[in-house]
Amino acid sequence: MITKQYDIIILGFGKAGKTLAAKLGAIGKSVAMIEENPLMYGGTCINIACIPTKTMIIAASKGLSYEQVLNQREVVTSRLRNKNFAMLDTNPHVDVYTGYGAFTSNKEITVTAGDDIIVLSAETIIINTGAVSIKPTISGIDTASGFYNSTEIQHLPTQPATLGIIGAGPIGLEFASLFAKMGTKVTVFNIEPAILKREEPIIQELATTYLTEQGITILNSVTLDSVSNKNNKPVIVADNQNYTFDAVLYATGRKPNTEHIGLEHTDIITNDRGAIVVNDVCESSVPGVYAVGDVNGGPQFTYISLDDFRIVFDTLTGNRHYTLKDRKNIPYTTFLNPPLSRVGFTEKEAINKGYTVKTNEMLVSTMPRAHVNDNLKGAFKIVVDAEPI
Ligand SMILES: Cc1cc2nc3c(=O)[nH]c(=O)nc-3n(C[C@H](O)[C@H](O)[C@H](O)COP(=O)(O)OP(=O)(O)OC[C@H]3O[C@@H](n4cnc5c(N)ncnc54)[C@H](O)[C@@H]3O)c2cc1C
Repeated sequence: MITKQYDIIILGFGKAGKTLAAKLGAIGKSVAMIEENPLMYGGTCINIACIPTKTMIIAASKGLSYEQVLNQREVVTSRLRNKNFAMLDTNPHVDVYTGYGAFTSNKEITVTAGDDIIVLSAETIIINTGAVSIKPTISGIDTASGFYNSTEIQHLPTQPATLGIIGAGPIGLEFASLFAKMGTKVTVFNIEPAILKREEPIIQELATTYLTEQGITILNSVTLDSVSNKNNKPVIVADNQNYTFDAVLYATGRKPNTEHIGLEHTDIITNDRGAIVVNDVCESSVPGVYAVGDVNGGPQFTYISLDDFRIVFDTLTGNRHYTLKDRKNIPYTTFLNPPLSRVGFTEKEAINKGYTVKTNEMLVSTMPRAHVNDNLKGAFKIVVDAEPI
């Protein structure tokens, strides 16, 4: 057994963690970065999420074959992964450990790498273990084959002719659009009355129209009875009807990845969703132990993880100007066609929060520019606080 002491240990090679490692290493701090999977150097975004999905969408829209789309995905992710690894590997103050890390006390993490056990300790520890897909609780899902999460679905060796998707949020619909573009017949199973449940009704309606025009079948307000296999194919039973597919994706949310990282050996507190509870500077209930990115239960975006980096870096370098309290109005985009971008409350959310609102909606087709572009799709909705300041 090897033991080693660092100024800072970072558990997980995510967006915030790798940026902290690079910046803290650059100012001479000794840093240990622990990543369990060499195919995940650089984290979720570049290897299994934002980057590969958009790469596949662009490759598919160029008319490339399924194999070429997969190949392009591999080319781009391995390029970025290698670049990310090199960024830390060449830093003389940073050691990268490839192995599974778990807390063995408040200030100690044990890394298991094959037969090697390495015990690392530091006064400052950053937890950046991301999130994992939530498997829906449907009878039969634990034993049936052909049901994949968002990572597994990107590695199917052959293109499914038919794909069922459970869930109609951003991830489910992005994959629906991607596979439809490649010629797969897609059916979306949505337990809610409308897709994109957090969006404005006008957006839900338009997105439904556009996805349907792409040949995607959307089944809203369904009850999922059970799943199983027939002739080795996945079957969904919904509202007493059987639907058979070549593959099924479940895109039913992601939860903070805290289950197997030894928190029971620490005084770190998690909430009922398994997220590490943090204060305004992303510090957990153990002083000096921080949680950044998806694992602290904030909005699940790469740029939020990067923003957590800013807060922790400021804190560790003695400058507490920017905290979670200062982060407001988080914008986001869902990569449908056309893309959906939003910042702020929906009309309903604003009213529920007690605001008096003024709203306006405008179809893109009413703008001359849309006609110039020969693309009339889309709409704008604006919700403003009607009370004078
Ligand atoms: C399909 C999909 C598409 C997405 N698209 C977008 C998008 O377009 N834009 C956007 O902003 N966000 C997108 N997201 C969300 C975004 O990917 C995440 O919010 C972001 O990557 C989270 O980063 P993180 O810093 O929390 O950690 P991650 O990048 O998730 O890194 C966690 C790392 O920790 C490692 N790890 C975990 N446990 C251990 C352990 N015990 N020991 C060692 N290593 C460990 C993991 O292997 C991983 O590399 C998407 C997500 C998905 C699933």
